[in-house]
Amino acid sequence: MTYEPLPDAMRQAKPATATTSQLNREVYDTLDFNDQQSFRDAERGFIATLTPLTIAHDRGRKPVYDLAKSDFLHDTAPDTANPSLWRMAQLNAHHHGLYEVTDGIYQIRSFDIANMTLIRGDSGWIIIDPLTASETSRAGLALANKHLGERPVVAVIHTHSHADHFAGVLGVVSQEDVESGKVQVIAPLDYVKECLAENVLAGNAMSRRASYMYGTLLKPAPDGFITTGLGASISMGTTGFVIPNDIISKTGETRTVDGIEIVFQMTMGTEAPAEMVFYFPQFKALCMSEITSHHLHNVYTPRGAQVRDALAWAAQINESIDLFGDQLEVQFASHHWPTWGREAAVDYMRKQRDLYKYIHDQTLRLANHGYTKEEIAEQVKLPDALGKEFYNRGYYGTVHHNTRAVYVKYLGFFDGNPAHLYPLPPVAAARHYLDFMGGADAVVTKARSCFSAGDYRWVAEVLNHVVMAEPDHLQGRGLLADTLEQLGYQSESGPWRNFFLCGALELREGLPTGARFEATESMAQAMPLENLFQTLAVRLNSDKVDGLVLHLNLAFKDSPATLLSIENSVLHAFVGKQHSAPHATLNISSLDFKRLMLRLADGPQLFASGALSIEGDANALAQLAGLFDQFERRFPIVTPRTPW
Ligand SMILES: [Zn+2]
Repeated sequence: MTYEPLPDAMRQAKPATATTSQLNREVYDTLDFNDQQSFRDAERGFIATLTPLTIAHDRGRKPVYDLAKSDFLHDTAPDTANPSLWRMAQLNAHHHGLYEVTDGIYQIRSFDIANMTLIRGDSGWIIIDPLTASETSRAGLALANKHLGERPVVAVIHTHSHADHFAGVLGVVSQEDVESGKVQVIAPLDYVKECLAENVLAGNAMSRRASYMYGTLLKPAPDGFITTGLGASISMGTTGFVIPNDIISKTGETRTVDGIEIVFQMTMGTEAPAEMVFYFPQFKALCMSEITSHHLHNVYTPRGAQVRDALAWAAQINESIDLFGDQLEVQFASHHWPTWGREAAVDYMRKQRDLYKYIHDQTLRLANHGYTKEEIAEQVKLPDALGKEFYNRGYYGTVHHNTRAVYVKYLGFFDGNPAHLYPLPPVAAARHYLDFMGGADAVVTKARSCFSAGDYRWVAEVLNHVVMAEPDHLQGRGLLADTLEQLGYQSESGPWRNFFLCGALELREGLPTGARFEATESMAQAMPLENLFQTLAVRLNSDKVDGLVLHLNLAFKDSPATLLSIENSVLHAFVGKQHSAPHATLNISSLDFKRLMLRLADGPQLFASGALSIEGDANALAQLAGLFDQFERRFPIVTPRTPW
């Protein structure tokens, strides 16, 4: 859907208004900007970096990662950025390269959104979390080998099931060396399942929303992208996946890898569904993975994910303190910089623990008084003991959306008010609002005076109705973009700033051109069959299968025979079953079936090569292939979606 373009002047980024400038200046009065401890810790142990920090793509023309574009962050905060977020952007962007955590432990920082940690073993490197792209992890390893001596990679530890901690794995090891067992790949219980579950079934929606959250479409600029909060910026390179050959499932399990002893603690169902932290007795060093970081993390991540358990999160940090707090000398993690010294590290861990517990407890206190999630979000404020610490600020998660997340975790999306039980969808509601409020022109006129008064939250709410009902109303669309932009300039959270500025971008420029989602060969290899079937089930187009009955026996050469049935407009895969009178029986390997369904291979080709044979109705396979939706990568977020 394309709309009438805005005139050039309306498409430009606007300066900060007087209201925004004033609010941003007031931030200097609320926090101690003279406290430089974070900068000292971020600088400590620096060995070397790449200058400029621009990492090329293996196949594409655009760099995978280009921190050189963030040079403008050297100045003091402009009016178009919250000074607290600007400070975090500087911490992330200015401290990149190879760092010593302690003799034997090194980190590559800001070569990607996450850190890659290298532990020097007897003969080689143990690598923790090989970043998001092969290009960035390979560049990081090369830098370490150059300055610390060439060593082979003998093991990889994936701390958890998020892509910024595994997808660059093939930049540091080969698939063959993992399969042969030459390289040990250690991961927490349920790692494979959760990598796929969290990123595949709702993957298209998540990745579109993630492009907003990480600001990947924004230009780095004082009035554009400055940071993700969690790290300098996300890399856009070659991704991969390997199946681990060593799974950790219990707290207290230990391994000795290449002469290095590691003690594990499971932290499942907190920051990620499958996650663990671990301690190195020889180094008195604790890796907290992504359980602690130098900000308030997301109890709910705005890109979309299941709500996380704030109470379990606090409990896990507490257990880490109990298990390792009286031994550790340094604490490091998979994002941001380490904390040195037992006292400082334990104090930091206690306050991170209490941050999540406070948000959890106070949300439920107010919920039990009857307040709804929006009312709670407006009221919960951190006490100074927690909220004045820079490492507890909302650079990634915010108190506002994390309280709403806790509410949803316990009580769901409905607030109990029946006026909210059966709402109209956005476009229908918007038309009624405009009708009641005297039409789009009248709404925009009123909104303009609220904008002048700096009441941006309200302006965003009413103008959203104008855009949903009349997306071609240029004044309405332009003013909504300007409004979201001011909210972005004020945000202390990287994701909030990026969401607001990406909303403004979509309103001004329309949808970016983008290809449909395409699967890769490594995805086909790594995806378990049961995930493939569930992925197919969520792509099943209900209109096309209304009244259809289809039974296909899949006689896999290498996996249990499976009955794929479509009936009652639902797709099932029954493992170990075969239909007595199927429409067709397919003889095929499970990998080729996955490739076929993911459109990496085509039926006639497999048939001709002998990789596929069909008994029964050969048309059944062609019919099956036509029943699934292909998802558009770039669907509208701030403009109306056309109904199916
Ligand atoms: Zn991460």
